[in-house]
Amino acid sequence: MTSITLMMIKPDAVENGYIGKIIEKVTSSGFKIRALKLTQLSKQDAERFYHVHKERSFYPELVNFMSRSPIVAAVLEKKNAVNDFRNLIGSTNPLEADEGTIRKLYATSIGENAVHGSDSDKNAEIEASFHFSGREQF
Ligand code: GDP
Repeated sequence: MTSITLMMIKPDAVENGYIGKIIEKVTSSGFKIRALKLTQLSKQDAERFYHVHKERSFYPELVNFMSRSPIVAAVLEKKNAVNDFRNLIGSTNPLEADEGTIRKLYATSIGENAVHGSDSDKNAEIEASFHFSGREQF
């Protein structure tokens, strides 16, 4: 049985021209794209998306970063999608990410770390609905 996860290619990676390379790595790792778009989060959108972190010291920095320029949002499907995608992207801090992971290859810092991946099946559903209407998901 397959499940979904929500990917965002974050502003740093879009600015650095890595959209194509990241999508190639994702699809060649067995993920199917069920929804995809280039979009930009408003500050309010970023606050809402990351509200679980609102007490953290880095929250204002995170909100400014995530809303500063366009992102790519995608719904990805695969068996064990959430965990397999988190393994593919690597640790939050690119300095600690394994060789060959997306963050090791394309992230610049713990804050500007190239990609987002959902942390549970429940959050994947919530995050997919945050970015896409039902008729945008295939
Ligand atoms: P993730 O699940 O690996 O994305 O990590 P978290 O859920 O812990 O954090 C969400 C996002 O907040 C990360 O992907 C980073 O963009 C950002 N973040 C986490 N820790 C820090 C930090 O110490 N400093 C800054 N500036 N950003 C952070």
